[in-house]
Amino acid sequence: EMVDARIPESSRNPIIEEIKGQKKQLILLNKVDLSDPSQTKRWNDYFKSQGIKVLSTEAKDGKGIKQVKAAIKELMAPVFEKNLEKGIRPRPIRLMVLGIPNVGKSTFINRMINKNQAETANRPGVTKGQRWLKIGNDFELLDTPGILWPKFEDPHVGLNLAFCGSIKDEILNVQNLAYELLKVLRKDYPEELIARYKLDGLTSDDDEEYNKYGEPIDPVLSDMEAIALKRGFIQSGKRIDYERTGRAILDEFRAGIIGNITLERPVYK
Ligand code: GDP
Repeated sequence: EMVDARIPESSRNPIIEEIKGQKKQLILLNKVDLSDPSQTKRWNDYFKSQGIKVLSTEAKDGKGIKQVKAAIKELMAPVFEKNLEKGIRPRPIRLMVLGIPNVGKSTFINRMINKNQAETANRPGVTKGQRWLKIGNDFELLDTPGILWPKFEDPHVGLNLAFCGSIKDEILNVQNLAYELLKVLRKDYPEELIARYKLDGLTSDDDEEYNKYGEPIDPVLSDMEAIALKRGFIQSGKRIDYERTGRAILDEFRAGIIGNITLERPVYK
């Protein structure tokens, strides 16, 4: 099961627990090049505490593939031992990558097979048209990832998915989305924000400030304006270009330019 290390909970669908049956499971925290290392460690501990084996990967750069292969073998060792006792010889381990869209499944599959698609086992997979790709002598990997639905019921989860680009931006209001992201970053990654946008500081939540019309200033909006001014995202008539500012904040978060950021913390039940 592959998840996005920046949103390890929001990018899961618990239905996997129902559909996996007796199969062994490994959670891959992918895109750790973008996540906060200290939080990635906490998520690692969290999944471990649930009895699930977990590893970090950077599918794009092919990092962690070796460790994944070793972990799968370790996970399967007891099964093979039992089989050997019954006189059944070890067969290649069959693997499938599951996860919600955009977590990096296809990238990971290509890394696993080293893009050597010629070396395919000539047997039909689960669905017509799917194939088991041979990886050395030890593994066979389903060439198509299993796609799980993201969970949209919780608005908080929906936002996290949108921040990370798992929901198409065409159906979202970029300004509002960036505003919501800024709210989270102000709270959890203020130093990164200040450094990236060369701000003098962030607008305080505590003391209410008022604009020239005597209206209370929204601290999030005030920071967004400060970013726009630093960047020169100003339209004619000295109006702030919120659209452009929002787009920049979202793009830079997604590319890891604001910093290594994880948007949610594990909650132990
Ligand atoms: P899928 O929908 O789960 O199959 O996801 P894709 O494999 O199509 O990847 C979605 C996007 O994430 C692509 O733009 C990939 O280049 C990117 N991606 C995949 N793995 C990583 C990673 O480890 N780090 C980063 N930064 N991007 C990644």
